[in-house]
Parts: sequence; structure tokens; C-alpha cells
Amino acid sequence: MSTAPARTPVAESTDTALREDERTAIAEHARTCFPGLLGEGGSGFDDLAVLDGESAGRWYQRTVDGARYFHSSGTSGQPKRIPWTPAEDDWYVGEKHQLFSDWLGGCRRGFISLAVGHNAGSAHLVFEQLGLAVHDAGLTTLADQREAVLSFGPDVLYCSPTTLDRLVTALGDAELLRPVRRIITNGEVLFPALRRRAQHRFGLADDAVIDTYGSTEIGTLAASCPACGRYHFLDGLYPEAVPVEDLPAGVRAPRAGCAVLAISSLKRTAFPIIRFLTYDVIEGLRRTSCGTPRFTFDRVVGRCDDIVNYGELFSTYELADLIRGWLPGAGWFVFSECNDLTVVVEGVEPTGFRDELAQRYPLHSQMVDLGLLPAPDLHFVEQFDVFTTRANLPRALGGKDVRRVVPSGLDERWLADLAPSP
Ligand SMILES: [Zn+2]
Repeated sequence: MSTAPARTPVAESTDTALREDERTAIAEHARTCFPGLLGEGGSGFDDLAVLDGESAGRWYQRTVDGARYFHSSGTSGQPKRIPWTPAEDDWYVGEKHQLFSDWLGGCRRGFISLAVGHNAGSAHLVFEQLGLAVHDAGLTTLADQREAVLSFGPDVLYCSPTTLDRLVTALGDAELLRPVRRIITNGEVLFPALRRRAQHRFGLADDAVIDTYGSTEIGTLAASCPACGRYHFLDGLYPEAVPVEDLPAGVRAPRAGCAVLAISSLKRTAFPIIRFLTYDVIEGLRRTSCGTPRFTFDRVVGRCDDIVNYGELFSTYELADLIRGWLPGAGWFVFSECNDLTVVVEGVEPTGFRDELAQRYPLHSQMVDLGLLPAPDLHFVEQFDVFTTRANLPRALGGKDVRRVVPSGLDERWLADLAPSP
């Protein structure tokens, strides 16, 4: 028997198609801010293609007056450069303010550990405007962050899921100055087991945790609702389940009930969030009425491309290049069950491989060194075909069209007797 409070029942519809007025508003926004997207003679929503990573490429090069720039992980080894204007920053902070102000009522001290990126850059301001005293841990060691929590005594934690989990471990049953009453997470997928563990440590009910979901391109897309438990899309954002036939080559089709998410935003003017393909897979997209009618979904399931949620987004491009350089033609797979990183590579581990891997992913390596991320778990296997057969993975070694990211964990039995003895 669950003791969780009953969720508010909500009216819902399985209809996820955009209404005519929504399509018109998106086309109008594109016409005003990004006319290049409509093509010659185009004017309506149907003239707007889904904006995949390749077509979005040129927009990352654009310089926008007065904007500041954030960087996110690129799939081609090049970090993407994303402009945010002061007006967009104000809107972003205002939305967060609205999202959290009532829910954080009575809270006085906020602890932030969000590494880098647009959200990390503005979280401090959001808390300050809500009247909270703030400790922003930035990129500091886990031990320092533990000390900061113990001495600062926050009643709100605003962390990435992985950092939250490591903080829970580091804190153990240490006595807190004052109870943690609220937790906000952002950045990776907040897995249910991880959420439960944090709730248990701090003695919190379901409605004391809000998970926010967003990206550097878009800002906050959605937040988990304390009332119904589903994720609410923010106002001015229009989600679409991308039809399988419109997915770019090499992208995995989602399983039934799930959708690859494209999003249009009427809020962003410096970067075209117009049918923008997020490569995120979400489950249960539908219109519901919770407070007001809106789009909601049940959860983020993962991604449909070769980027992994590992602290910050982790593009496998550099890893692939590294393996090609050291072990030409070797097969390899990446497993990421819970914001972690496990790699199985065909062959014998070359001396210096780990060092070069660390050099190619400086931010992830820094987070591992600080204790904020688990180290990558690397396995080199000579009998790779035995491994792939056991794991039911495709055999084509070195093939370009093999999906390298396996959206599940590694079963240690697949490696039994195969890994060289330490
Ligand atoms: Zn709700």
C-alpha cells in the first residue's frame, strides 16, 4: 500500500495535434523572427519543416545583437553556440519565478549545484528574486558541497539528479542545520529510484520535489506538477510528436506510447525554436486540464540519438573518434542506464586511452575529479562477438550505421569470462 497522497484527477484527451490557432501563431512567429525557415513563397505552418540538428546548424553561427552565448554538446565534435538576449533572459527568470514562488513559500536558503550552462547561469538570480539567501556551489568538490550543505543549512536544493544522488550518499545520516523542505532538479533524467532515495533521505512527500526539463536552446520546457505528477509544458510552448517518417536518418523510432519531441516556442527570438527537434523521447504526451488546459506528458524516457545524459550531455563523437584512432575497425557500445556511462570496446585497452578520453571530455572529467559524477566504466573485450551475441546487439564491426548507444544498462553476465583479468 502506498502512503503517497492521492493525485488530483484531471480531464485528458489523447489528441496531441496542434489546433489551427496554435499552428497560425507558430507560423506568424516564424514569419516575424525567422523568415528563412518558411522557404520561398511559404507562409503557413505546413511550409515549416521539422528543424533537425543538421538544418539548425547554420543558426548556431548567427550573431545576435546584445546576446550572451551558452554552449552545449554538439554531435559533430563542435560545441554549439546558443544566443540568449537580455529580454529572453528576463522572460526565463520570470517563468521560473512564477513556477516556484508559491511552492517555495516560507523557504529561506537555497543551495545550487548545476555545473554549467544556461540554467546554472540563471538559477542564482531566480532564487535571489524570490528573496532566498543563496549558496551556489558551481564546480566544487563533492566534499566541499557536503560541507556547504551542512554549514549553510539550505531548506531548498536545486541540483542535477546525479549531483543530488551523490550529495545524498555523501551526507549519509549527518544531522542537518534545518530540514530540507523542497528539491528542484534539472539537467538529466530524474529516475524514480533516485527521486525516492532523495525523498526518503530528507523525509519528503512527492509534492516536495519538482523536476524541470529543458535545454540550452529552448530554456525550461516543462516541470513536474506537484498536483497531478505529470510534466506541464510552459505557456507559449507547443509540443509535437514527430511522425516517424519525418525523423532524420539514423534516429531510432520510439516504442508505442512514446514520441520524439519537437517543440515550437513563441518566446525565443534569438534562436529558432520552430518545430525544433529535441531528440528527446517522452511518454504519454497529451492535453490535460490541470488548473488550465495544457499539454502534459508522463516522463522523459531518454534520447533517440547518440548523445547520452551523463552529468552534462555527452556526445559520443569524440569517443568514436578516439576508438577509431587507437583501434581501427573495433566494435563498441555505450550503455547508460541512469545518467552514468559504461563503454564496452572490442580489443585490448591501449596504454593512455583513459587519459586521452579524459582530455577529450574536459567538463565531464572535471566533474568526475570533483566527485560529482561516477567515473566512466570501461571494458575492453577481445571476444567481442561472444559479447554482442549474449547482449543481442548487432554485429557489424566498425559499421557506420550501427546504433552505438544502448538505452539500457550493461548486464555483467554478458561480460563473464570475457574481460581480461585485472
Ligand atoms: Zn498538474
